[in-house]
Amino acid sequence: MLDETKLSIEEVIVRAESAPKPRGHLLVDGATVADTVQCCHCGRQWIFVKGSGRRRGWCMNCNAIHCGDAACDLCVPFERKLELYEAGKIGHLK
Ligand SMILES: [Zn+2]
Ligand SMILES: [Zn+2]
Repeated sequence: MLDETKLSIEEVIVRAESAPKPRGHLLVDGATVADTVQCCHCGRQWIFVKGSGRRRGWCMNCNAIHCGDAACDLCVPFERKLELYEAGKIGHLK
């Protein structure tokens, strides 16, 4: 399986594909070379890479992409987690 975190930036750029709902963009010399997406549950950002084989999820609740981690299968939106965290109800953000 291809792990995009181990790719060089050139390889990422070659393989990058446009994301359905990009959160941001990776810019090189002022040009967009890749879209970044953000997990709606843990807030992690990554670059959308073709053929990465990574399992990603789609949350029907948030209508947004999530990173596919088991912890993110459950819908606890990142904003909600932040609220709980700030209220001291949970001790960590992941
Ligand atoms: Zn996540
Ligand atoms: Zn959700």
